Amino acid sequence: MEITKDTIVTINYTLKDEKGSVLDTSEKKEPLQYLHGYGKMIPGVEKGLEGRKPGDAFDIKVTAEDGYGKYDERLMTSVKKDLIQTDAELAVGMALQAESPEGVHLLYITKIDGDMVSLDGNHPLAGMDLFFNLSVLDVREASPEEKDHGHAHDGDGHHHH
Ligand code: ZN
Repeated sequence: MEITKDTIVTINYTLKDEKGSVLDTSEKKEPLQYLHGYGKMIPGVEKGLEGRKPGDAFDIKVTAEDGYGKYDERLMTSVKKDLIQTDAELAVGMALQAESPEGVHLLYITKIDGDMVSLDGNHPLAGMDLFFNLSVLDVREASPEEKDHGHAHDGDGHHHH
Protein backbone atom coordinates (compact mmCIF):
# COMPACT_ATOMS: atom_id res chain seq x y z
CA MET A 1 0.00 0.00 0.00
CA GLU A 2 1.00 3.63 -0.40
CA ILE A 3 2.26 5.84 2.39
CA THR A 4 -0.55 8.11 3.61
CA LYS A 5 -1.61 9.46 6.99
CA ASP A 6 -2.22 6.66 9.51
CA THR A 7 0.14 4.14 7.97
CA ILE A 8 3.06 2.52 9.81
CA VAL A 9 6.13 2.96 7.63
CA THR A 10 9.41 1.04 7.85
CA ILE A 11 12.38 2.63 6.09
CA ASN A 12 16.11 2.52 5.80
CA TYR A 13 17.75 5.91 5.56
CA THR A 14 21.11 7.53 5.11
CA LEU A 15 21.50 11.20 5.91
CA LYS A 16 24.32 13.23 4.38
CA ASP A 17 25.30 16.87 4.54
CA GLU A 18 25.90 18.96 1.43
CA LYS A 19 29.52 17.79 1.26
CA GLY A 20 28.37 14.17 1.13
CA SER A 21 29.54 13.21 4.64
CA VAL A 22 27.29 10.66 6.30
CA LEU A 23 25.68 12.17 9.42
CA ASP A 24 23.41 9.28 10.30
CA THR A 25 22.29 6.01 8.79
CA SER A 26 20.06 3.11 9.73
CA GLU A 27 22.34 0.71 7.88
CA LYS A 28 24.12 -0.76 10.87
CA LYS A 29 21.11 -0.32 13.13
CA GLU A 30 17.49 -1.43 12.90
CA PRO A 31 15.34 0.00 10.11
CA LEU A 32 13.27 2.94 11.32
CA GLN A 33 9.55 2.45 11.90
CA TYR A 34 7.16 5.34 12.49
CA LEU A 35 3.52 6.46 12.29
CA HIS A 36 3.17 8.65 9.19
CA GLY A 37 1.34 11.98 9.28
CA TYR A 38 1.88 12.87 12.93
CA GLY A 39 5.01 14.98 12.66
CA LYS A 40 7.18 12.17 14.00
CA MET A 41 9.69 12.83 11.24
CA ILE A 42 10.94 16.20 10.04
CA PRO A 43 8.43 17.73 7.57
CA GLY A 44 10.65 17.34 4.49
CA VAL A 45 11.02 13.60 5.06
CA GLU A 46 7.29 13.03 5.59
CA LYS A 47 6.56 15.04 2.41
CA GLY A 48 9.14 13.03 0.46
CA LEU A 49 7.68 9.71 1.60
CA GLU A 50 4.02 10.59 1.01
CA GLY A 51 2.54 8.31 -1.68
CA ARG A 52 5.60 6.02 -1.89
CA LYS A 53 5.41 2.21 -1.81
CA PRO A 54 7.53 -0.68 -0.50
CA GLY A 55 10.50 -1.18 -2.81
CA ASP A 56 10.83 2.53 -3.62
CA ALA A 57 14.35 3.87 -3.11
CA PHE A 58 15.20 7.50 -3.82
CA ASP A 59 17.10 10.61 -2.78
CA ILE A 60 15.57 13.80 -1.45
CA LYS A 61 16.96 17.16 -0.46
CA VAL A 62 15.42 18.73 2.64
CA THR A 63 16.01 22.42 3.21
CA ALA A 64 16.66 23.71 6.73
CA GLU A 65 13.12 25.13 6.86
CA ASP A 66 11.68 21.66 6.21
CA GLY A 67 14.31 20.03 8.39
CA TYR A 68 15.47 21.08 11.85
CA GLY A 69 14.69 24.75 11.33
CA LYS A 70 16.81 27.81 10.69
CA TYR A 71 19.66 28.51 13.01
CA ASP A 72 18.45 30.91 15.72
CA GLU A 73 21.18 32.88 17.48
CA ARG A 74 18.78 33.82 20.26
CA LEU A 75 18.93 30.19 21.42
CA MET A 76 22.56 30.62 22.41
CA THR A 77 23.28 31.41 26.02
CA SER A 78 26.01 31.28 28.65
CA VAL A 79 25.59 30.18 32.24
CA LYS A 80 27.80 29.67 35.27
CA LYS A 81 29.00 26.11 35.71
CA ASP A 82 27.48 25.71 39.17
CA LEU A 83 23.98 26.44 37.80
CA ILE A 84 24.10 23.25 35.74
CA GLN A 85 22.69 20.33 37.66
CA THR A 86 24.25 17.13 36.44
CA ASP A 87 26.38 14.37 37.89
CA ALA A 88 28.24 13.95 34.64
CA GLU A 89 31.47 15.73 33.80
CA LEU A 90 30.72 18.64 31.47
CA ALA A 91 32.22 18.39 27.99
CA VAL A 92 31.82 20.19 24.68
CA GLY A 93 29.17 18.46 22.57
CA MET A 94 27.29 17.10 25.56
CA ALA A 95 23.51 17.61 25.56
CA LEU A 96 21.76 18.85 28.70
CA GLN A 97 18.04 18.66 29.31
CA ALA A 98 16.29 21.89 30.19
CA GLU A 99 12.65 22.19 31.13
CA SER A 100 10.46 25.04 29.95
CA PRO A 101 6.68 25.56 29.78
CA GLU A 102 6.73 24.05 26.25
CA GLY A 103 8.43 20.87 27.42
CA VAL A 104 11.90 19.44 27.65
CA HIS A 105 14.57 20.95 25.41
CA LEU A 106 18.09 19.89 24.72
CA LEU A 107 20.92 22.37 25.12
CA TYR A 108 24.28 21.49 23.63
CA ILE A 109 27.51 22.61 25.29
CA THR A 110 29.55 24.51 22.68
CA LYS A 111 32.28 25.97 24.88
CA ILE A 112 33.62 25.73 28.43
CA ASP A 113 35.65 28.72 29.53
CA GLY A 114 36.63 28.69 33.19
CA ASP A 115 33.40 28.98 35.18
CA MET A 116 31.28 29.85 32.16
CA VAL A 117 29.57 27.33 29.92
CA SER A 118 28.19 28.30 26.50
CA LEU A 119 25.00 26.50 25.56
CA ASP A 120 23.20 26.25 22.22
CA GLY A 121 19.50 25.36 22.10
CA ASN A 122 19.54 24.82 18.34
CA HIS A 123 19.40 21.27 17.07
CA PRO A 124 22.89 20.31 15.83
CA LEU A 125 21.42 20.04 12.30
CA ALA A 126 19.58 23.39 12.43
CA GLY A 127 20.32 25.67 9.50
CA MET A 128 21.58 22.81 7.32
CA ASP A 129 20.26 21.46 4.06
CA LEU A 130 20.00 17.71 4.43
CA PHE A 131 20.34 14.98 1.81
CA PHE A 132 18.51 11.74 2.47
CA ASN A 133 18.66 8.43 0.70
CA LEU A 134 15.47 6.62 1.62
CA SER A 135 14.22 3.13 0.90
CA VAL A 136 10.75 1.99 1.84
CA LEU A 137 10.72 -1.52 3.30
CA ASP A 138 7.16 -1.87 4.53
CA VAL A 139 3.88 0.04 4.73
CA ARG A 140 0.88 -1.13 6.72
CA GLU A 141 -2.24 0.40 8.17
CA ALA A 142 -1.89 1.68 11.74
CA SER A 143 -4.02 -0.06 14.37
CA PRO A 144 -6.63 2.04 16.22
CA GLU A 145 -4.42 1.77 19.30
CA GLU A 146 -1.38 3.09 17.45
CA LYS A 147 -3.38 6.04 16.10
CA ASP A 148 -4.66 6.68 19.60
CA HIS A 149 -1.14 6.60 21.06
CA GLY A 150 0.32 8.55 18.15
CA HIS A 151 3.20 6.13 17.57
CA ALA A 152 4.09 2.76 16.06
CA HIS A 153 4.08 -0.41 18.13
CA ASP A 154 6.32 -3.38 17.54
CA GLY A 155 5.08 -6.15 15.28
CA ASP A 156 4.79 -8.53 18.22
CA GLY A 157 2.39 -6.19 20.00
CA HIS A 158 4.78 -5.04 22.68
CA HIS A 159 4.99 -1.42 23.65
CA HIS A 160 8.13 0.51 24.06
CA HIS A 161 7.15 3.72 25.71
ZN1 ZN B 1 1.61 2.90 22.63
